[in-house]
Amino acid sequence: MQPQNSREIRLKHRAVGLPSASDFELTETPVPTPHEGQVLVRNSYISVDPYMRGRMTEQKSYVPPFQIGEPLTGGAIGQVVASKSASFAPGDCVQSMYGWREWYACDAREVQKIDPTLGPIQSYLGALGMTGLTAYAGLLVIAQLKHGDRVFVSAASGAVGAIACQIAKAKGCYVVGSVGSEAKAAYLTQELGVDQAINYKTTDGLTNAVAAAFPDGIDVYFDNVGGAHLQAALANMRQFGRIAACGMIAQYNATEPLPGPNNLGNIIGLRLSIRGFLVGDHLGLHSQFLGDMARWHGEGKMKWRETISNGIESAPDAFIGLFKGEHIGKVLVRVGPDEAVK
Ligand code: NAP
Repeated sequence: MQPQNSREIRLKHRAVGLPSASDFELTETPVPTPHEGQVLVRNSYISVDPYMRGRMTEQKSYVPPFQIGEPLTGGAIGQVVASKSASFAPGDCVQSMYGWREWYACDAREVQKIDPTLGPIQSYLGALGMTGLTAYAGLLVIAQLKHGDRVFVSAASGAVGAIACQIAKAKGCYVVGSVGSEAKAAYLTQELGVDQAINYKTTDGLTNAVAAAFPDGIDVYFDNVGGAHLQAALANMRQFGRIAACGMIAQYNATEPLPGPNNLGNIIGLRLSIRGFLVGDHLGLHSQFLGDMARWHGEGKMKWRETISNGIESAPDAFIGLFKGEHIGKVLVRVGPDEAVK
């Protein structure tokens, strides 16, 4: 039965440093009535992502800041409960950017249908969605990955990193991932078939550990972290190596400018390419990506894990956990039923 109210998470304060639960506020608002051309959707899963941290500041960026007192937004998968659009019917499974809330009504053009028969619906927020596409575009387009490349991936057991490792393995590469725990290292080597894992929290010097894992150097570095990881990669790149700059999570909570790598000169001597990218510029690859993912999955070369918390009230902690390395795979919050709402 449809409740009267929907719960949502709003931004209470602009976070300073590592966000805390008190930066967020759980509020209730009436479940809206859809107008002509709109759909009413009950969310099943919402995504929490590191890039949202930047939107909690006032900094100018490629996405506008979240507003204090407003519900946060982000990727979400849900089911149409009522439709005043000819394009959607109750029970349709849809994807939107109306995350961090249980229910919403919006213009039908703001939601996209997904096919719930292709995989669990929440995988469209992770491996089969923007997360997987980020790894795919970053390696194949930005880093121009080739068979046999020696590939280093940071935050390698995370949502993007674990897919990047497996794409590189599927392409016949030697792959080493960096992670923050022994359990994550075992996941990479024992479950995902990664050649070696480096636990950067226990290693005695990341640059030396990377050198030991790459005696002949790195062809491709997929950078999710920046900082000391970028420094260690730069120290060990081969000539004409390529770096896909995907994210710099090591600095997202910084309260003052952090020192940069002190070996940028290697870019010149080694004739390196470093290219940043945003997944949103590569949406045209989506059907090719899904085709490859289905094939790799069928061949046993592509697996994924999700860390799922329950209830909209758990979303702030799930988000904060991204910066503590508390999860393996894609972090999601289940906020409603998986099955179509009757
Ligand atoms: P994720 O890897 O699932 O979660 C973040 C992971 O980063 C944590 O589990 C933790 O793993 C690691 N981490 C956190 N703080 C760290 C620190 N200070 N130093 C080193 N590692 C740290 O998140 P994701 O969604 O896959 O995102 C990964 C990166 O890709 C992020 O930088 C994100 O901003 C970026 N991204 C970019 C795009 C794009 O379009 N360019 C799209 C999606 C994501 P450990 O325990 O292993 O440290």
